[in-house]
Amino acid sequence: MSSDTIFGKIIRREIPANIVYEDDLCLAFKDVHPQAPVHILIIPKKNIPQLSAATAEDQNLLGHLLLTAKQIAEQVGLKNGYRLVINNGQDGGQTVDHLHCHLLGDRALGWPPG
Ligand code: AMP
Repeated sequence: MSSDTIFGKIIRREIPANIVYEDDLCLAFKDVHPQAPVHILIIPKKNIPQLSAATAEDQNLLGHLLLTAKQIAEQVGLKNGYRLVINNGQDGGQTVDHLHCHLLGDRALGWPPG
């Protein structure tokens, strides 16, 4: 069951998105407000509101999200590296309550984050 968030609506095709990858477990699409030349969100189809709500049952799914992010990074040619970000909860800066992993790349990224 997908969530009742904007990402749930994207999974159910109720609103459009620029989808770059999909399989049985996850969906990846371009972020509407990109923070880097490449900014793609990888989300599980399962309704997990945030990383801290994941359980041991989600172990394979979480691994799948990371490996999918790696595969997409290769496909879009991020040869010099990239960053994966999961914002969790209020202090983490999470704004959409459906677990998502940001794939950012194609520019040098600063550290520490703001
Ligand atoms: P976070 O702040 O980690 O919760 O990230 C949420 C991200 O979702 C932000 O980078 C937004 O720009 C992005 N976003 C919000 N609505 C959409 C949408 N309809 N399609 C694509 N990305 C979106």
